[in-house]
Amino acid sequence: MNPTYRYGDSSLPVSRYRRQILYLVENHATTIIVGETGSGKTTQVPQFLFEAGWAENGFCIAVTQPRRVAATTIAARVAEEMGCDLGTTVGYAVRFDNALTAGRTRIKYLTDGVLLREMLDDPLLTSYSVIIVDEAHERSLSTDMLLGLLKKVSGEGMLHVFVQRRRPDLRVIISSATLEATKLKDFFDTGTATTAAQRRVAAAAAAAAAAAAAAAATSSGGTAAPSPPRDPHRTPAVITVEGRTHPVQVHYLEHPAPDYTRAAVEAAVAIHCEDLPGDILIFLTGQEEIQAAIGLLEEHARRLAGSRGYSLKLMPLPLYAGLPGAQQQAVFRSTPRGYRKVVAATNIAETSLTLEGVVYVIDCCFVKQRCYNPLTGLESLLIAPLSKASAAQRAGRAGRMRAGHCFRLCMEADFAAKLPEVTVPEMQRSNLVGMVLQLKALGIDNVLKFEWLAPPPAEALVRALEELHALKVIDEDARLTRDVGLALAALPLEPGLGAALLASRSLGCCEEMLTLAAMMSVQHVWAPAQGAIRALEEAKAKFAAAEGDGVTLLNVHRAWRANGRSAAWAQRHFLNHHALFRADEARDQLQGLLRRHGLLPQDKPPPSCERDMEPVCRALAAGLFMNAAVFDRTEYNPLAPEGDPGTHVFRLVRYTAQRTHPIKLRIHNSSVLWRSIPSCVVYNTVQQSDNGWYEMQGVTAVQPDWLIELAPHIFHKPSHTAV
Ligand code: ADP
Ligand code: MG
Repeated sequence: MNPTYRYGDSSLPVSRYRRQILYLVENHATTIIVGETGSGKTTQVPQFLFEAGWAENGFCIAVTQPRRVAATTIAARVAEEMGCDLGTTVGYAVRFDNALTAGRTRIKYLTDGVLLREMLDDPLLTSYSVIIVDEAHERSLSTDMLLGLLKKVSGEGMLHVFVQRRRPDLRVIISSATLEATKLKDFFDTGTATTAAQRRVAAAAAAAAAAAAAAAATSSGGTAAPSPPRDPHRTPAVITVEGRTHPVQVHYLEHPAPDYTRAAVEAAVAIHCEDLPGDILIFLTGQEEIQAAIGLLEEHARRLAGSRGYSLKLMPLPLYAGLPGAQQQAVFRSTPRGYRKVVAATNIAETSLTLEGVVYVIDCCFVKQRCYNPLTGLESLLIAPLSKASAAQRAGRAGRMRAGHCFRLCMEADFAAKLPEVTVPEMQRSNLVGMVLQLKALGIDNVLKFEWLAPPPAEALVRALEELHALKVIDEDARLTRDVGLALAALPLEPGLGAALLASRSLGCCEEMLTLAAMMSVQHVWAPAQGAIRALEEAKAKFAAAEGDGVTLLNVHRAWRANGRSAAWAQRHFLNHHALFRADEARDQLQGLLRRHGLLPQDKPPPSCERDMEPVCRALAAGLFMNAAVFDRTEYNPLAPEGDPGTHVFRLVRYTAQRTHPIKLRIHNSSVLWRSIPSCVVYNTVQQSDNGWYEMQGVTAVQPDWLIELAPHIFHKPSHTAV
């Protein structure tokens, strides 16, 4: 027999630990794998397990990812390594999109959110033999929730069962790029060894046994097929994979940079002009910045191509979540001879995806982050200072091939003083409405007592319960309501949008709300072309509806359908054809779910309001009433040029604890209602601008009276007064 395995890339560091990992997984309910980014944890470990027989007898190996783009890209890579088509033996499942073959897919990359939703149907995860919770160091909301659930799911009444106790054959592997292992280990330690000393002894014995097993397996040249013991060790095993890393020299700015996008481009060009080999990786915070940087880099590339004396040509490439698949793959292709890749990426390139050949990292030292204020109930996206731990990860990306350099676009003193040590887990800075809803649907009634890896603030939990109560998802006793609650938990939508969809049934516009909810959920419907901002604005204006962004999206989808779902038509109108198709699939999936849960008749098409858009706006108001804001006043900037229209300030309608200092909102300039002044609106999301404004996105104009009509339990006074 061939002593080495058939699949995968045997040159990666993790390959040397293959037998040890297999041994630990066989004997321990939980195994924690810590390893440097790029060592092969995500792509290789599932293949080891597959080869060792963990995906036999109809079982599947799940690998969760916090980001959908990582799930899809990595699945494609592993399918290629295993020589199969994506969607056959290796597949992926992300919200509203999957590539799977029932009964055939054995390794499944999925977002942690999708696995959580699967748990609603199958709490014991019976189709899986192994769950790999990848990128645990990121501590995303869904990862933390999944870890809590994997450890324990409370069954009916007071009976508490452990998923792993009920499924002694189930294995959990947690993989992390940083040494948070001790914390995870203690969290999962449900074994009998109770004192730290006993645990150390147990761990040492396990490590020794693993080493002995590995040595035995090497000498015999074979792989023992797994025969999971009935009750594996409860004490988690920890294994550290030594990676290949080279030293990285860190450089700082001498003066602060007023515009980090520009500074990043200048730094990249300066490196390029040194004329030493090696690719460049720039970290920025989001799509807009990346596109701006790519635009500038392309200008420089053209200019430099004309001047002689440089041996390499600049090859700028973007990498962010909304990028079409083919373009995402482009960054992984090896750099053509005579070129130097400059990849401008979001923090997706921090640990999720590894790019080979990078020698220089340029780090803006910021990151786009969710943040939540339980006092106001406002969750927003904010560009925040990076943590030092993340900055270290980013710098590490330069040392994969040989000694590298990292240029941080801030001063050293500021780095030391202003950057937090570690990133606060998402659980502690998010709106928890969706999470609490899911926990309740899983039968966990007392969410305050749930065992968290890092407990969220109590106010945030209370706030979530209040919001769920307002949405009539839970009753006075904080129990899930039969009609709304269970249905809402089953829909893969934000609770507000889900509630709007449920409301649309009686308002006679379900057909429209299905499309609208799908369009609002798929991101990046617009595909701005480089340097064609004006043309994009003109294209948007063609579909713009006075009712707001929701109806505008509906117009877009209707027009695309009327034009035969043509890709060329989409491109001409700066629309992302891929996203439109995804919306179509999302729509079908939502309709299927409504039917399955008896919320729509099986045999009839959903009720439609045809051309009259008022029911659609009412449905949105019925779901998003917690996000209602009224126009307050127009503020003028004394320094603005004459004729400046000023800023139209809105304030939240519902009660906020900061009533005496009401938060000011305004409509984001991506909204079709940007320049208009509706008296009352509901919004889908809020983003915080760098000068502190809360900017509403996905805005729809509504009548204040509707709020009183649709949510009388919240709004009972004239709606211009905060309740
Ligand atoms: P880890 O999970 O430990 O960070 P991975 O398993 O993701 O490591 O990656 C291992 C190696 O596989 C890396 O060197 C990376 O460059 C390579 N790799 C991963 N995905 C792709 C891809 N889509 N195309 C080419 N190489 C890839
Ligand atoms: Mg990985």
